[in-house]
Amino acid sequence: MQYPEPIARLIDSFSRLPGIGPKTAARLAFYVLRMKEDDVIDFAKALVSVKRNLHYCSVCCNITDIDPCRVCQDKARDRSVICVVQESKDVVAMERTKEFLGQYHVLQGAISPMEGVGPEEIRIAELLQRLSDEQVQELILATNPNIEGEATAMYISRLVKPFGIKVTRIAHGLPVGGDLEYADEVTLSRALEGRRELG
Ligand SMILES: [Zn+2]
Repeated sequence: MQYPEPIARLIDSFSRLPGIGPKTAARLAFYVLRMKEDDVIDFAKALVSVKRNLHYCSVCCNITDIDPCRVCQDKARDRSVICVVQESKDVVAMERTKEFLGQYHVLQGAISPMEGVGPEEIRIAELLQRLSDEQVQELILATNPNIEGEATAMYISRLVKPFGIKVTRIAHGLPVGGDLEYADEVTLSRALEGRRELG
């Protein structure tokens, strides 16, 4: 039996999301069918709004509804230190530690030859641009402690060498292969404190 077109279309949309298989997609679609109409409309509006009202910050490449973003606009933050992370979620994780008061740069990904993601696909050019414009003294590489994150950190540290800026890598002690966003505040604070200069 085939599903009627509207539900088939919704199942198809859900199944395009990461980690959602056909069974889960069907379960979610039928759940939506049973939701109150107002809730469905709110949900649909939230989906559209995330695309229409969020942009990338012209300075740090984080997602933001205002440009420059709140962190980049904050005069109290130290402009001499930039913490480089892979995703916007990592900024949220770092901010939770309340230990870091510098600026961020969000790469929006990591170099991954396996998945065909090269250095041009992530926001490295924007980072280099910032380094030539701003008074940056230290770059903290806080990419994830997995193959892609390490490769990205090494790539950036080599590129940044000619700028004469101190480049540090956050300490291990973060779960290997794990994502920054899943690290608790204490672990992340320690990783930040124990960062080492890359040679
Ligand atoms: Zn910003």
